[in-house]
Amino acid sequence: MNQQEMNQLGLYDVAVIGGGPAGATAADDLAQKGYSVLLLDRAGRIKPCGGAIPPRAMKDFHIPDSMLVAHATKARMISPTNHKVDIPIDNGFVGLVDRCEFDEWLRQRAESHGAERRIGTFDRLDHLPDGSVILHFHGRHQAGDTKTFAAQVRARLVIGADGAKSEVARQNVKDSEKTKYVFAYHEIVKTPSNPPADYEASRCDVYYNGKMSPDFYGWVFPHGNTASIGTGSADKGFSLRNATALVREAAGLANAETLRREGAPIPLKPLKYWDNGRNVVLAGDAAGVVAPASGEGIYYAMAGGRFAGEAADEYFKTGNPKALSIARKRFMKEHGRVFWVLGILQYFWYSSDKRREKFVKICEDKDVQTLTFESYMHKKLVRNKPMAHVRIFFKDMAHLLGIAKAH
Ligand SMILES: Cc1cc2nc3c(=O)[nH]c(=O)nc-3n(C[C@H](O)[C@H](O)[C@H](O)COP(=O)(O)OP(=O)(O)OC[C@H]3O[C@@H](n4cnc5c(N)ncnc54)[C@H](O)[C@@H]3O)c2cc1C
Repeated sequence: MNQQEMNQLGLYDVAVIGGGPAGATAADDLAQKGYSVLLLDRAGRIKPCGGAIPPRAMKDFHIPDSMLVAHATKARMISPTNHKVDIPIDNGFVGLVDRCEFDEWLRQRAESHGAERRIGTFDRLDHLPDGSVILHFHGRHQAGDTKTFAAQVRARLVIGADGAKSEVARQNVKDSEKTKYVFAYHEIVKTPSNPPADYEASRCDVYYNGKMSPDFYGWVFPHGNTASIGTGSADKGFSLRNATALVREAAGLANAETLRREGAPIPLKPLKYWDNGRNVVLAGDAAGVVAPASGEGIYYAMAGGRFAGEAADEYFKTGNPKALSIARKRFMKEHGRVFWVLGILQYFWYSSDKRREKFVKICEDKDVQTLTFESYMHKKLVRNKPMAHVRIFFKDMAHLLGIAKAH
């Protein structure tokens, strides 16, 4: 490509690849700051997701209540022996979104603030001597077209928010292929007009049971007219479909009409590097940020998108590519400890039915309930209740050592 052809490509400040929660947030923030932004998304597929988001997500990212298809005011933990512990969510709720509408709303918001949207699939980047890139992508002009087009644009910086198994990361960021994944699968069912007695439209059910997942959990999340029922595991030999059938049976929803069946990998651990030290920075699942134990990724993707936007802003202001590393630094400073604690929790408590039974028992404790939900809802480890931490520590130890009875 000669200089004249290159000039004809035009130059964006930022090309954001992927229009999920991470990419749409980064694109929106940067467009609002006045940068020229291209938001490229391949479209055509609803992201498989339980859609549970905490109030902190709604507050930080100005998500209106109208985006929620359900409000969960209670969570139920169910042990391998069917012991049930209901946890009321005091002073709040967990919001449930349908990703089809939610993601599109996020993309439209970015567009309304000036981001330019294109539908297409990322292919590769050519790195130019001035630090900018030529971004190659392809797509179809209309759904159903047999012919594809190939296109290029030029950008000063790329944000890779193209989800788990990110192609941007694979091609540009060191060690990104070293990530491990949990594979999660769910079925969207129609909520029966006469739901089973045990089903509540405002309760999220979480099954801790080795038959439903040897290392994660099974869930039933209400979504108004539908419900997401699923499970996950890092064990490739484990049948997620059979396990989901068990969850459905336990929930009394075995015969509910199935609308969709779908699955996707969830990254297990934040990547070591989120940028290439030059002109690419990652966000969301592409950077590996899904919370262990809970599998929560929407809030963290949006937070990562915001930090990637801040890193980009800093890079443009200083001209120093080292500024790109602040995306990871800021994220880990704010959430690294929670990820660490949840990682240990998952490793220990999700490893056998005996431990799962004890874990659910521990969840009966009011202090545990308060601390767990406060951390989930507000993304802060609660510090103003030191005695509660001490009590939990001793109760935990008692359970670990088998001094407390499981029932
Ligand atoms: C079954 C399941 C249930 C889950 N339940 C929950 C839950 O209840 N709550 C929660 O918080 N999290 C949940 N998660 C995790 C959550 O869905 C993800 O962490 C979150 O979607 C990550 O957002 P993201 O923007 O980083 O990536 P994604 O949402 O995956 O978005 C990536 C975007 O990039 C686009 N893209 C991909 N490749 C390309 C390409 N080559 N070119 C152009 N565009 C591309 C895709 O079309 C997509 O729009 C669940 C995950 C799964 C699999």
